[in-house]
Amino acid sequence: MQILFSKIAAVTLEDGAPVLENAYVLVDGTKITYVGTEEPPHDADCEIIDGSGRALLPGFINAHTHLPMTALRGYADGIPLDRWLNEFIFPAEDRLDARAVRAATDLALAEMCSSGSVSASDMYMFCGEIADCAVRAGMKLNVARGLVIQSENPEEIRRSQGWREQEELLRDWQGAGDGLIRVDASIHGEYTSTPQLWDAVRDFAMANGLRIQLHLSETYAEHHGCKERRWMTPAMALMATGVFDCPVTAAHGVFLEKDDITALKFKRGFVLAHCPVSNLKLGSGIAPMRRLLENGVTVALGTDGASSNDSHDMFEEIKLAAMLHRGVEQDAELVTPVQALKMATEGGAAAQGRGDECGKLAAGYDADLTVLDLSRPGLHPQHSLVSNIVYCARGSDVYMTLCRGRTLYRAGEWKTIDVERAIYEVDRYAAPLVSGRL
Ligand SMILES: [Zn+2]
Repeated sequence: MQILFSKIAAVTLEDGAPVLENAYVLVDGTKITYVGTEEPPHDADCEIIDGSGRALLPGFINAHTHLPMTALRGYADGIPLDRWLNEFIFPAEDRLDARAVRAATDLALAEMCSSGSVSASDMYMFCGEIADCAVRAGMKLNVARGLVIQSENPEEIRRSQGWREQEELLRDWQGAGDGLIRVDASIHGEYTSTPQLWDAVRDFAMANGLRIQLHLSETYAEHHGCKERRWMTPAMALMATGVFDCPVTAAHGVFLEKDDITALKFKRGFVLAHCPVSNLKLGSGIAPMRRLLENGVTVALGTDGASSNDSHDMFEEIKLAAMLHRGVEQDAELVTPVQALKMATEGGAAAQGRGDECGKLAAGYDADLTVLDLSRPGLHPQHSLVSNIVYCARGSDVYMTLCRGRTLYRAGEWKTIDVERAIYEVDRYAAPLVSGRL
């Protein structure tokens, strides 16, 4: 089956010419096969989508989230991270079950695809449920069992429930949905684990060719607590055990130091998942973006879970990533609109180890696409379409999303997710369950 986008503004983000006006973009099956200004040959039954008044972008990739935490949206606000986690979030998560996880994940995926995202990197529990929801939704997912293990005994680590679930996840879900699902390894964070766990995860990731997802230097307390305990930063402590010899996607990096960044930039496959909304909401701080970019570190964007954001709308992350660091550094040239959009697309693909497969609007890449409705009043005039997308657009301006050529959402309708059921289940079951009201 082919789809031809006709006379559309194709946001290719190419150097010097980031938008191709009046473009034709042909999707054949799961792939983009043509991007150009001449109408390409196509099959007689090709679906033609009128692109006038619309823009076509690579679908956004949310490089750090915890999808089932959507059940905790709006729960426990205004509390420092350590108390927020230990007194509110962890007890609520202990009450989760598979039914609640499925409902909250479906709701999160519905929110994502209706606001321009087609893929997420997720670190959580009940990972088989999350992966199954993603496959049914037709969306991409790098899924990792977040390991919180304080044991220093390698045997005990391998016998733990989390470790066994990680092995089952790899066995049952790696490559599922024709590769929609990729399994990553995970260390939840330096402060919630031990060097023995880091060794085990490094070996597991290396043996199975996996990326590792982790939280890194998110808060002052985490970063400086590590320095007091181990006489080195979390990045250096993890590096000393070879964790970064595997490709790593590290979330936050708010307190990364100069030496951390100059060491991490040489680590193959290292990507920093910048989560500006979460870092601001939890009062954590602001990542050192100038230094990260000056050192050539690949940066992606993530929303983090919906209890610390509380949205999965990547347009918010893009806008904030493009503005926040200018204010902090008093530098109007820091983070260009094109750079911010690339973080949400190419950077996200790199964070998932899928850089050769998606994240670009170009022939040969997967047809993971977002169509924006440019007719909205807040998107006129269009002196610069890229600036309007970064500074003015929001998730509700999305007309359509596709993942591997399959339509996920179009004109207010979800094609793969029963959104009414997800809302009902979250409101009537998952939310009361996690808040202890059920
Ligand atoms: Zn997180």
